[in-house]
Amino acid sequence: MDADLKREVIYDNYSNPSNRGHIENEEYIYVNTNNSSCIDNIDLWVKLKSGIIEDIKFDGEACAISTASTSIMTKELVGKSIEEAKKFIENFYNMIEEREYDSNILNEALAFDEIYKQANRKTCATLPYKGILDALEKYKNE
Ligand code: ZN
Repeated sequence: MDADLKREVIYDNYSNPSNRGHIENEEYIYVNTNNSSCIDNIDLWVKLKSGIIEDIKFDGEACAISTASTSIMTKELVGKSIEEAKKFIENFYNMIEEREYDSNILNEALAFDEIYKQANRKTCATLPYKGILDALEKYKNE
């Protein structure tokens, strides 16, 4: 993904995020995730059924990087099994932390492959993934 495309992907997902919305429904697991070094404060609602992520919605205030990352994450993870989702998340963290990763599965999330150059933005990009891992943990313990 070249630099222009990365900017475009991030801008599109920030200005017109997917899966934005507030949910009041017991079938959804609610988690909040926030970043003290930025304005990011994101509510996530995750619906899981038989080990599949059926739906994710998010709301709250967040910077461009965090909003775009959350939008992309929701699109990528809905429809995946917990195992597939964890593989995606692990690869995303590996990319952010400059470890070896599988670029074939990350799709639009590859827009963040140079975010390590701005250390304080890494937390913005990974914030929704921290939230979804909390939600998966809650699901496991239910
Ligand atoms: Zn941020």
